[in-house]
Amino acid sequence: MDFIDLKTQYRRLKPAVDSRIAKVLEHGQYILGPEVVELEQKLAAYVGSKHCVGVASGTDALLIALMALDIGPGDEVVTVPFTFFATAEMIALAGAKPVFVDIDRGTYNMDAAKLEAAITPRTKAIMPVSLYGQCPDIDAINAIACRYELPVIEDAAQSFGATYKGRRSGGMTAVGATSFFPSKPLGCYGDGGALFTNDDALARLMREIRVHGQDRRYHHPRLGLCGRLDTIQAAVLLAKMDVFDDEIVARIRVGQRYATLIAEKFGTGASAKVHAPEVEQFNTCVFAQYTVEVEQREIVETRMKSLGVPTAVHYPLALHMQPVFKHLGYSEGSFPSSETAARRVMSLPMHPYLTDAQQVQVVDALAQAVA
Ligand SMILES: *Cc1c(COP(=O)(O)O)cnc(C)c1O
Repeated sequence: MDFIDLKTQYRRLKPAVDSRIAKVLEHGQYILGPEVVELEQKLAAYVGSKHCVGVASGTDALLIALMALDIGPGDEVVTVPFTFFATAEMIALAGAKPVFVDIDRGTYNMDAAKLEAAITPRTKAIMPVSLYGQCPDIDAINAIACRYELPVIEDAAQSFGATYKGRRSGGMTAVGATSFFPSKPLGCYGDGGALFTNDDALARLMREIRVHGQDRRYHHPRLGLCGRLDTIQAAVLLAKMDVFDDEIVARIRVGQRYATLIAEKFGTGASAKVHAPEVEQFNTCVFAQYTVEVEQREIVETRMKSLGVPTAVHYPLALHMQPVFKHLGYSEGSFPSSETAARRVMSLPMHPYLTDAQQVQVVDALAQAVA
């Protein structure tokens, strides 16, 4: 069994993907070709955002957003310590200081009730993460940001396609940043990402920063990156967009099926040996990961592996405990919910083509492993 099966999807989409790629090979516009523009228009409409800027990765998307907002040395950006490293890494790489707020134990996302206490006169932005495929309480975060006149950058790398109160992830904040890394809900065949905004000036700046900060050919008012989305990756994404809604329906069905199987096998509540993820009633979750909590995770993972079921840990160490962030002055106990989650979480195989029989096999293996 694959942890994420990309081959079944390719077999389904082969004619569309192959012909889209062949078209690029024929016209030869590998850099910012027509597919990039077509994809940007399609994605902007999908997210409900005025602008979409295709970029080279989710990581570049975060950095470009920070650079466009002129965030750098002396500034602070509030984020969470329980996320993929890139979130805080790009804040630090931009020269600013990541300031952490603990997560909600139920959803693993920013606890909006703790946000205000982390804001200081140096705060320049708030960067919540939509972890595992569902959004945090965006309205609550936006309301606080609005009071302090701070932009919100949603790290939507795991939540493309998810909705919050009927609105799409990526389109509800000053900037939304997503990733098309192959294993994300919408993935390309290499690295890719996108930025979303309704702000014309910000969109223009992000487009400039994407190409070395140039406002016209070989004229540079600012520094930027080599941060473009490849035309071939845009072509792959265009083919995949045709089935994306269908795949989201499948992801939600797989998530519900796991929840049912886990409840049947382990029960619910605090004493259950396996804790299934909770989705807020105002959210739809696209399950970039289907992540449960268990005791003695290492033993459980080893046993499941021996039963032919791969697992993964997203993420084993909260970012305030990473060696590179030691200087920030946090210690064990600073963010108890993040630390507990980091100790207990374990992701199960998850993709839209997972069959009922495979899910039964995963949950059976889980039951043997925790016994
Ligand atoms: C994957 C991911 C990123 C980085 O995206 P890349 O495309 O791999 O650079 C950033 N933040 C989160 C939360 C992610 O899951």
